[in-house]
Amino acid sequence: MDAVAPIPQSAGQATLGEAIAESRRLLDQAGIESAEQEALWIVQHVLRLPAHHVVTDRDRLLASTELADVKGLVQRRVRREPLQYIFGMQEFCGLEFHVNPAVLIPRPETELLVEYVAQRISAEQSTTIVDVCTGSGCIAVAIARQRPRARLIATDLSSRSLDVARQNAIRHSVGERIIWLEGNLLGALAGQKLEGQVDVIVSNPPYIAEADWATLQPEVRLFEPRGALIAGPQGTELHERLLQEACRYLSPGGALILEIGAGQARAIRQIVEQISGYRFHRLVYDEAGLERVVIVERVGT
Ligand code: GLN
Repeated sequence: MDAVAPIPQSAGQATLGEAIAESRRLLDQAGIESAEQEALWIVQHVLRLPAHHVVTDRDRLLASTELADVKGLVQRRVRREPLQYIFGMQEFCGLEFHVNPAVLIPRPETELLVEYVAQRISAEQSTTIVDVCTGSGCIAVAIARQRPRARLIATDLSSRSLDVARQNAIRHSVGERIIWLEGNLLGALAGQKLEGQVDVIVSNPPYIAEADWATLQPEVRLFEPRGALIAGPQGTELHERLLQEACRYLSPGGALILEIGAGQARAIRQIVEQISGYRFHRLVYDEAGLERVVIVERVGT
C-alpha cells in the first residue's frame, strides 16, 4: 500500500482542544452565558493544568478517564449546578473557601460586611465579634484573619454548615480562634454569659421574600440551601428578630452590621426606630449601587 492511511481516531478519544470545543457547545446549548470560559475552567480543573496550558497543550490526547471526568462535570453544569459546588470552592476576601450544597456560596458583595467590621476594630483591639448564620464560615474566618486579637463566635442552625465552616477555619489557620455554636440566630448564645459583652454582631441572614423564590436563577433555586435564602413573606423577618435579640448582647456603642436586600433599608429603619436602645448609624450601597449593608449602634454608656 503506497498511501499512508490517516491515523484513525478511535471512538471516544479527543484532544484537549476538542474536549474544550465540545464542552463549550454543550454549555452553550444549555444556555450557560459564559460557556467558553466555563468550558476552559472545567477542562483546566479536571487536568489540573495552569491556565495557559489549555492553549499550549491543545493537541494533547486526553486519557479516557480524563475525558469521562470532563463530560461528567459538563453534564452537572448543564443541569445548572453552580461551578462553585462542582469545584467545591469559592474565593472570598482573597481566601479559598470549601463549599458544598449545605452552605450558601459566598457572594462578593458580602465582603462589604467584613470591611465594615474591620473598620470598627483596630488590629490591636481585643474584642468579641459574633457572626450569625455563618454558613461556610466565610465572614468569621475572614475577620479572624484580619483581626488577630479578636475573639470570634459563629452560629448557625445547621450542623452540616458548621462542619464546613470548621474545615474552612482550619484550612486558614484560625480553627482555634472561633467558637462554633449551633442554634437559631442569637438563641445559640444562651448560657454563654455574653450579655452586654459583644462589640460587633455581623450577619448575612436569609433575606429573600417567599414570593420571590420562583424568580431566582435555577443555579440558586435548585442547588443552594433554601433555608439560607428565604426569610418569610416579607424578607426582613430575620433582620427584625436579630435586631430584637441583639440588643441584650451588644456592649454600649457596639454595632449590629447586617446585609440586606435591595429595597429593604426603609423597612429595617422603621424596625430600628421601634426598638429602644438603638441608633441607625448608616446604610452602605454595593458596587451595583444597591442597598446592601445597614449598621445599627447600641446606645448607652
Ligand atoms: N455567612 C454566610 C455568607 O455570607 C452564609 C449566609 C447564609 O447562609 N445566609 O455567605
